Amino acid sequence: MISKCIVMLTALLAVAPVANGQRRVPSANTFMPYSRQIVAFTNVNVVPMDRERVLRNQTVVVRDGRIVQIANAAKVKVPKGAQRIDGQGKYLIPGLIDMHTHLFSDEDFPDSLAGDELMVMLANGVTTIRLMIGTPEHLVLREKTAKGEMLAPTLYVAGPQLTGKQSTNAHVVTSPEDARRAVRESKIAGYDFIKLTTSITPPVYEAVIETAKEIGIRVVGHVDLQVGLQRALEAGQQIEHLDSYMEAVLKDDSPMKVSVSDYGVWRKPNWESLDHVDERKIAEVARATAKAGIYTCPTLTFFKLSFAVEQSDEEIRARSDYRFFPLELRKTRQAARQRFWTNPPSAGRRERYVRVRNQLLKGIHDAGGKIMTGSDTPELFLLYGWTLHRELKSLVEAGLSPYAALKAATRTPAEFLNALDAFGTIKQGKRADLILLEANPLDNIANTEHRAGVMVRGRWLSEAELRRKLDEIAPRFQAAGGAEK
Ligand SMILES: [Zn+2]
Repeated sequence: MISKCIVMLTALLAVAPVANGQRRVPSANTFMPYSRQIVAFTNVNVVPMDRERVLRNQTVVVRDGRIVQIANAAKVKVPKGAQRIDGQGKYLIPGLIDMHTHLFSDEDFPDSLAGDELMVMLANGVTTIRLMIGTPEHLVLREKTAKGEMLAPTLYVAGPQLTGKQSTNAHVVTSPEDARRAVRESKIAGYDFIKLTTSITPPVYEAVIETAKEIGIRVVGHVDLQVGLQRALEAGQQIEHLDSYMEAVLKDDSPMKVSVSDYGVWRKPNWESLDHVDERKIAEVARATAKAGIYTCPTLTFFKLSFAVEQSDEEIRARSDYRFFPLELRKTRQAARQRFWTNPPSAGRRERYVRVRNQLLKGIHDAGGKIMTGSDTPELFLLYGWTLHRELKSLVEAGLSPYAALKAATRTPAEFLNALDAFGTIKQGKRADLILLEANPLDNIANTEHRAGVMVRGRWLSEAELRRKLDEIAPRFQAAGGAEK
């Protein structure tokens, strides 16, 4: 046994060092558990998410942060000393993945807030996230969580935003030279992806795509109208927000070429373009997306609740995440809300906007395209976790089955992250990132919010414990303000 281990270790060492001047990234399945305790979920219904099915009355044994056994409860002898969690009538699903998040502490709030922010995500069953505009602090957080020094979701970190305009946490790229340098710097700094935002010219875009391909890092994010959807699909970019799609479905003879993708939603005249949508193009563009093989992270909820569905201040204040918004931030966010809603686009156009985005998403799904959930939290009044559950509902509202929606929050993003061997489904050998639910999410997607507890890398957090933590955190968020730097 020992000699076999040494042989394996030697083999590992032989491949581990430097390839092309870059350190080889360890497999996602190499991780530090948060607990080495043996835990057994007894008599539980497992929703493994490998395909649409429920395994009834199973016992799932976890050890050293990994799932070590899944079998019919009658056949499993629970190991001595194991913590037993009664799963009778309950459902075990993989931990959820939020592919589009930011943190209050990215900008105006102190870095010390990050631990609480990540805990709020865990409390909502989010066990893996991608931070979409990276900062050096995120790399520190990624390292700490990887080493098991901080209880948090597993982090993936996109680089600082590449944009043509001055902005925070940005590489300003106005020439191909800037672009090449920014891509290389992000890769060397250790970020997982190159993140594009706004004002990207075609020559800059070409340089980004070419350099990223050359040095082996993927490009994700917004699609500038100057670049256009077609080019982004050809380039294999991972597209956020369905950017540039609203423009791509306008009639050929539409008097307007601009629409409401991205920041276009803020420009009221752009909403007139909703009268010039060519319904036939929706299916066409959806098919092209699926054919390109790219992953779509539509962030439907963020756009719908911010720009399409009118909600009263009372409704927003009554949401369960509102109490977590820093008092200091509420004023500026409320002002932004008022700026839009004082004179909103017509109800008809807003409804059409939601319908077209939903049809696009459903079309992409039906054509075999890959969908991933992202919340864009904590934008406006949409906080961590809660908004991922809203996104699951939005996907179902758009016509996906509960299974397809849940797949977009588990299996598909794990596949995109090249980590399907580590998480994303419930399988022996995978990490124990799990949620225990009171009811079947495949019957009703809202059941992802009826939790008995969350397990992250083997550490069990009961719903009661998580609620206590949330109650402690809410006042700290409310009082937060002023960066400590
Ligand atoms: Zn974002």
